[in-house]
Amino acid sequence: MKKKVIKTTLSIYKNLEELPSNIQQLFKKAVEARDKAYAPYSNYAVGAAIELESGKIIQGSNQENAAYPSGLCAERTAIFYTGANHPEEKIKHMAISVKSKDKIVDTPGPPCGACRQAIAEYEFKQNKKIEIYMRGETGEILKADSLADLLPLAFNNSFL
Ligand code: ZN
Repeated sequence: MKKKVIKTTLSIYKNLEELPSNIQQLFKKAVEARDKAYAPYSNYAVGAAIELESGKIIQGSNQENAAYPSGLCAERTAIFYTGANHPEEKIKHMAISVKSKDKIVDTPGPPCGACRQAIAEYEFKQNKKIEIYMRGETGEILKADSLADLLPLAFNNSFL
């Protein structure tokens, strides 16, 4: 038996000011999207902002539903909108901002497994890494240089 070690390296920024100015702007858009979240059941609002190669910004927020599984996360709302409306454009970055009505969220909120898989599809499709930036309402920012860093051994069309 052999063992395989898979390493992931993430970058940590102490605050928004440490980020490049375009990413600071992207976080403003993620916060703007987050404030439009429809999250009456979890009280956990999430906003995602995507920057395309053209400079266009796409926003998404979580949209919950009384039939819980019918709702959708912010990340997939944003990435599916991008795929539906800008299918030829490559995605450069995604910024994710989270906020709870019940407590101050001071740690980054990473995308759930389903969102990681959905974003991975677009990373494979465009054959170019998508940088993922994550932040709570306050506190440090976590950055993955590629979605693949958040989803080792991702399933993709090469397995079909
Ligand atoms: Zn999700």
